[in-house]
Amino acid sequence: MRLRSKLPEGGISIFSRMSALAAKHNAINLGQGFPDFDCDPVLRSRISHHLNNQKNQYCPMAGLFELREALSKKINKLYDHYVDPQTEITITAGATQAIFTAITALVHEGDEVIIIEPAYDCYKPTIELVKAKCIPYGLSGPDYKIDWDELDSLVSSKTSMIIINTPHNPIGKTFAKTDMKALEAIINQRDIVVLSDEVYEHLIYDDIQHQSVLKYPNIYNQSISVFSFGKTFHATGWKIGYAVGSPKLMAEFRKVHQWNVYSANSFVQYGINDYLKDESKYLGLPTFFQEKRDYLNKLLDKSKLKPVKSEGTYFQLFDYSEISDEDDITFSLHLTSKYRVASIPLSPFKSKKTNDKMIRLCFAKKDKTLEQAAELLNKI
Ligand code: PMP
Ligand code: GLN
Repeated sequence: MRLRSKLPEGGISIFSRMSALAAKHNAINLGQGFPDFDCDPVLRSRISHHLNNQKNQYCPMAGLFELREALSKKINKLYDHYVDPQTEITITAGATQAIFTAITALVHEGDEVIIIEPAYDCYKPTIELVKAKCIPYGLSGPDYKIDWDELDSLVSSKTSMIIINTPHNPIGKTFAKTDMKALEAIINQRDIVVLSDEVYEHLIYDDIQHQSVLKYPNIYNQSISVFSFGKTFHATGWKIGYAVGSPKLMAEFRKVHQWNVYSANSFVQYGINDYLKDESKYLGLPTFFQEKRDYLNKLLDKSKLKPVKSEGTYFQLFDYSEISDEDDITFSLHLTSKYRVASIPLSPFKSKKTNDKMIRLCFAKKDKTLEQAAELLNKI
């Protein structure tokens, strides 16, 4: 049989690669982004309650209606914008599926999609699967600001989507109001959809306000935004999230969603719906994670790793140029095998090679784990 791969360049993701290497060398895993502490027992008990009480059959295609209603209320309160739970919210099997579905539903063969690099790794292969072209806009450090005129110059008659991500993984930077206004001006009068990856909406620090597309009606009308309960509630393995978008776009989104998922798993939706009633569960997250970010920085204060302060996400970049001239992949591999701390290099998130000497460390870890990692890193 002659096999024609649809993703000939595709290999194992950098996250899986570094986690496997961490396990092989018994290294502390500050690479792949997942907490090493458990999720809230209240959430677990709500979910097991529904699992044990017959909430085991299909939910509606767009997701449990009560959960969509709860999300509509949450969005209204946080972003002062009403979205109709009937037509504008769909519960998904995580944000990755929502991103896949949005791109598959809205981008056509031959279209161009602008992504901001370093870009989260699932965007590019999905764009390639629909035979569209990825147009990267490259961020550069140390401030990683977008020059919107430059980004505008990448827009062509073929551009059908711009993908944004705030707070940004892997950089840890956030969009300001001025960024959103610039984006609004770029898409004004153009047939461009904004796919807004907001999985870290509640992981934002130093009193910075999250700039959701849900706050900008002119962008909202041309957007799909995606969120992840896995990231928000320390349960990345549950793979549950949601997408929000104006009715026209959401109708197209659902046309694809119903044939690749139909509906996301039921009892987790019931459990999350109960749990969302206590808003302190998500409003308390910035304080919780900011303390972890600051603790890691304090622990590494005297090390040769120099931080680029994270404004959001549970990741922080560190410049390792005082330690090594190696490229970031080689350095991350050595750090894991020799010093027993796994990290994530940035080059797998970029299409053009750059010479940045940066690695990403995840601080969603128990204090003890951060202390053990710092002890090893401080010896370098
Ligand atoms: N987007 C970004 C920026 C992420 O970091 C992640 C990882 N959580 C996802 C999307 C995917 O989220 P999920 O695990 O819910 O699929
Ligand atoms: N979002 C996680 C991270 O950035 C990884 C998720 C995955 O491995 N697909 O580390």
